[in-house]
Amino acid sequence: MSQSPANVATNIKAEREAGRVSIDWADGHHSEYDATALRLRCPCAFCQGEVGRPGWLDTNPTLTAEQTQLVDMRLVGAYAIAPTWGDGHDTGFYTFDTLRADCPCATCAAERETTR
Ligand SMILES: [Zn+2]
Ligand SMILES: [Zn+2]
Repeated sequence: MSQSPANVATNIKAEREAGRVSIDWADGHHSEYDATALRLRCPCAFCQGEVGRPGWLDTNPTLTAEQTQLVDMRLVGAYAIAPTWGDGHDTGFYTFDTLRADCPCATCAAERETTR
């Protein structure tokens, strides 16, 4: 696993009220993730499906307020976070690698555009 400062989280905050997760990275970068956007990317087998099998998110579900409500978040080892959603769903592990690669800030978005 690559351990560059760009995907080491030094500070993680679950902002339940704002519906946001914010992360400070070891290289000084700061990311903020919208809870709804995170839920729509839930990487668990149920949501994304497994090889040859579509997942729940493939059915383009309409998410309820509960399903996008961030109620808790735990650290999985040193490599991922697992949010708990208002409907009790908590099986999605979001690795720091993918979170950093998907940083929604303008700088990172522009960078992804140019390397595409
Ligand atoms: Zn899921
Ligand atoms: Zn960024």
